Amino acid sequence: MSRSEQLFQQAQGFIPGGVNSPVRAFKAVGGTPLFIERAQGAYVYDADAKRYIDYVLSWGPMILGHAHPEVVAAVVEKARQGLSFGAPTEIETALAGKICAIVPGMDLVRFVNSGTEATMSAIRLARGFTGRDKIIKFEGCYHGHSDSLLIKAGSGALTLGVPSSPGVPAALAEHTITLTYNDSEGLERAFADIGDQVAGVIVEPVAGNMNCVPPVPGFLQTLRQLCDDCGALLIIDEVMTGFRLGLAGAQGHYGVTADITTLGKVIGGGMPVGAFGGRRDVMEQIAPLGPIYQAGTLSGNPVAMAAGLKNLELISRPGFYEPVFARTDALMQGLRERAAAAGIGFTTNHVGSMFGVFFTDAATVTNYEQVMACDGERFNRFFHAMLDAGVYLAPAAFEAGFMSAAHSGEDIQFTLDAAERAFATLA
Ligand code: PLP
Repeated sequence: MSRSEQLFQQAQGFIPGGVNSPVRAFKAVGGTPLFIERAQGAYVYDADAKRYIDYVLSWGPMILGHAHPEVVAAVVEKARQGLSFGAPTEIETALAGKICAIVPGMDLVRFVNSGTEATMSAIRLARGFTGRDKIIKFEGCYHGHSDSLLIKAGSGALTLGVPSSPGVPAALAEHTITLTYNDSEGLERAFADIGDQVAGVIVEPVAGNMNCVPPVPGFLQTLRQLCDDCGALLIIDEVMTGFRLGLAGAQGHYGVTADITTLGKVIGGGMPVGAFGGRRDVMEQIAPLGPIYQAGTLSGNPVAMAAGLKNLELISRPGFYEPVFARTDALMQGLRERAAAAGIGFTTNHVGSMFGVFFTDAATVTNYEQVMACDGERFNRFFHAMLDAGVYLAPAAFEAGFMSAAHSGEDIQFTLDAAERAFATLA
């Protein structure tokens, strides 16, 4: 029995399913999850000391690669001064100022501890600001596990075949309308029907929780226009895309600005940090300035802020993103070529340093229906062949993959060689 198998068995004695977040359990792909002991740069090392090239990157945050020495040093130095005070600290303003300077339309920002908290708070803010109850979201998009948003959600929930969770009151669920991603006409119809009741629309600007599905041209722009016409707030959920598609995130990439932006993952550099922010008049409704309540014992934690700030400093350096994007391009092109040579129906999507692989005969994948029609069983076999070869992909066909600045040309070549062998076993 491997050490990961032993540890997984022990964990199941105390933790539901042995994991603290469902998708980690390898339920979709089968087998035993890797228990990770340490990580450095582009690699994670499991409890059996086996090395893997890591394209999960803690589900996105580690854009610099793991355990970057300057980030670790900033964390250690800050920790020496005390772990948490529950009082304001200078470093919160430093990180807030940096985020407001970079993220489009971000006049004010409030820190929280996770992406879930950020989107949950953004929804309350949109409802409180507009005095309306209805929220629009899109099938296959995931925005964390709060009640209003766990309605036909993707990510772990989709992977487990639980589109919406028991425990979410039906009376609340009826205020969330789920539409089809990349369907501008459906959106226009919905707004024509109920636009004046909509508090906000929340969208993943690149859907990363149904694999990786970029917006078709015009989709985000239509969304922006309809929100403006109806007085609804546009919430762009950049928890995954923020600082990953470039410094200005998806909003910079696609030229669309939110009323409220939600952030997480990269802004914490691997520590638990989320944030929501945007238009001054909207954010001024948050307590203590306004009546809409939101709070957090550990929010703005100085050690987490130190990780986030150092992370953002390092990725703000000129020329940081280009090589990461070029490696992502090269990996996707190489995978498509090798799959084609093996006669496997396969395609990829990628934007910036985020990517998705699809086992399908379709030339392009632009919506949830197409994602669901992909060959999941083939993905699972591919996943395990890659894992055996020392390449760690997300353990579910519905999750995006990520590239870091630590992935080298050799890592890409190693991955492509492994993929060539894996594709050969799938034919
Ligand atoms: N929003 C998006 C787009 C996400 O991808 C996620 C998590 O993957 C969340 C929100 C929830 O973030 P967290 O897991 O930090 O609560």
